Amino acid sequence: MRYFDPHIHMMSRTTDDYENMAAAGIVGLVEPAFWQGQVRTQVGTFIDYFDTLVGWERFRASQFGIRHYCLIGLNPKEANNIALAEEVMKIIPRFLEKEGVVGVGEIGFDDMTPGEERFFAEQLQLAKDRNIPALVHTPHRDKKAGTERTLALIKEVGIAEELVLIDHLNEVTLPLVMHTACWRGHSIYPNTKLSEERMVALLKQYGTDKMVVNSAADWGRSDPLKVPKTGQAMLAAAFTEADVEKVLYTNPIVYFAQSGNISLEEMQPVKIDQTKLWQENSVLRGQSPVIEK
Ligand SMILES: [Zn+2]
Repeated sequence: MRYFDPHIHMMSRTTDDYENMAAAGIVGLVEPAFWQGQVRTQVGTFIDYFDTLVGWERFRASQFGIRHYCLIGLNPKEANNIALAEEVMKIIPRFLEKEGVVGVGEIGFDDMTPGEERFFAEQLQLAKDRNIPALVHTPHRDKKAGTERTLALIKEVGIAEELVLIDHLNEVTLPLVMHTACWRGHSIYPNTKLSEERMVALLKQYGTDKMVVNSAADWGRSDPLKVPKTGQAMLAAAFTEADVEKVLYTNPIVYFAQSGNISLEEMQPVKIDQTKLWQENSVLRGQSPVIEK
């Protein structure tokens, strides 16, 4: 089976993770820009972070045979420093033009403050103006109200619902999104959010259309192999290999293909060449480079 993880923060992960993901069949991923766990205080740190997403991290993934795409955006936790957020909004458009950038994200609500709502709406507008995807994080606290306000804001901004993926859904919030044309994202975590078994139950109840599954792995307790593990759980629950491929590979690529910067056709295996360098840096530490012919 081949898999695609549409939400994972690889900058926080190790080369072991890349090797294990490739071995488990993950051929591509999307890394949304997000919260670093530590407040950023200057626009320059956002510029360097976005440059790393489109540069070094994309190269690093290629060294393990994985295609790396990313989303650029201001995350909700950092939308409450209004002066800084305004500066960040000015640099986002030029990053949306870069190779491998497949939309705006992750955006949305954390505490549902006026600042969060303002920059959430402005970034939905950016995606609407460019006709590209927007990945929306739903809050962990007061999730139902946050999801309802998210869906109302999408209508107010007027972005096509097909361009929006509502992420971190669960048994309570997925039914709200089923009434819309938005795509449906689910994060499988070791303890919180959803388990593989709960995800399988949602797929049985609601079907596989527009359904997307990710690991959302980052610098916290998380598991970068949750997409293939969900595939195993689906097969164990009598879903077919075609169902698994649709939900865990085709759906997310078709969704992000609306950006024009990714397609099913281009998802050919990446030939690993570890003799390559990125700005004179290599992922190797004295090992013999792998070179695939
Ligand atoms: Zn995330």
